[in-house]
Amino acid sequence: MKKTYLLTPGPTPLPPQVCEALARPIIHHRTPQFQTVLKETFEGLKWVFQTKNDCFLFAASGTGAMEAAVVNLLSWGDTALIVEGGKFGERWTELCAAYGIKTTVIKVEWGRALDPEVLEEHLAKDATVKAVFTTFCETSTGVAFDIKGFAQVVKETEAVLVVDAISGLGVIDLQTDAWGVDVVVAGSQKGFMLPPGLGFLSVSKKAWRCVEESKCPKYYFDLKKAKKALEKTDTAFTPAIGIIIALNEALRMMRADGLEAIFARHRRLAEATRAAVTALGLELFAPDAASDAVTAAKVPEGIDGAKLVKTMRDEYGVTIAGGQAAVKGKILRVAHMGYIAESDIILALACLEKVLKKMGYAFELGTGVKAAEEVLST
Ligand SMILES: *Cc1c(COP(=O)(O)O)cnc(C)c1O
Repeated sequence: MKKTYLLTPGPTPLPPQVCEALARPIIHHRTPQFQTVLKETFEGLKWVFQTKNDCFLFAASGTGAMEAAVVNLLSWGDTALIVEGGKFGERWTELCAAYGIKTTVIKVEWGRALDPEVLEEHLAKDATVKAVFTTFCETSTGVAFDIKGFAQVVKETEAVLVVDAISGLGVIDLQTDAWGVDVVVAGSQKGFMLPPGLGFLSVSKKAWRCVEESKCPKYYFDLKKAKKALEKTDTAFTPAIGIIIALNEALRMMRADGLEAIFARHRRLAEATRAAVTALGLELFAPDAASDAVTAAKVPEGIDGAKLVKTMRDEYGVTIAGGQAAVKGKILRVAHMGYIAESDIILALACLEKVLKKMGYAFELGTGVKAAEEVLST
């Protein structure tokens, strides 16, 4: 018998309430019954996004919502400024390139954050920048960027701030309206505790002016069409009915907890995980700006990181993530986002220790678990 556990930074585990909702028979979407769900869902989304702006959802993975942001805000030949500190920052650059948008890239060393002053300097140098694209939690490195600081800088310019918060929303505090973030992008399979399949975005008034002017080609992702439908509590095309019904359940669960409690839970799990890997002698990959959504740590010298992840998964049923691109095989990533409890973290750490020991890494068994327990006992 093998029992499996998922601690990856997307997809994340599903609560029983969500599984139950997903198992219900399908209903038609142009019905009062579904409209009731849709209405409650959008109210819930606005609550998680901490915004009064319109929120939109598409049947797509998170990247679809990122693409929706690009094609609705910009036109061929426009200039975008991109903060690129990992795999997902690079995605903004690739998306812009696909639509003929000129990009200026601020390259940030993987594992590091960016001082908002540097962003300010770049914006001061180039008044043609129409949009700044950045990432909230850079899932590939475990870095949380200073979105509040970025927003303060971008607010003073003509440009709009677009944040990929796919792995951070509903996990770490992101105050869309209070900080002045124009577009926030999210996806279903991270903090929302859902299967992949939905992409979300919120759009400010300032950003909506860009939408009015945008000439990028678009059809399915056209926000004007989506807004028209939204005004009638409807969707332009057949929505992902089943996942939206499950989203409504997930939002109910989140509202029952409250945002403060959600953020505090993730912080606690992150602190425990960071304490554990540090106690084991593993260096944090993002020591100065560690995200509370996922912990990235360097694999010890002489240990094959890919084999470590594979052994945990195939022999013990515990799935964590390894590194991508340049850090492939060199880092491990333990996600503590969404439906993850203290017991899951302890279990994953115990498994990590067991496999590290088996692979010949020298340390005293229980060191990491003890450090985590100490954090979780306070
Ligand atoms: C997971 C993730 C994405 C990609 O989302 P998909 O659903 O795979 O398209 C983008 N950005 C960040 C920060 C992510 O964590």
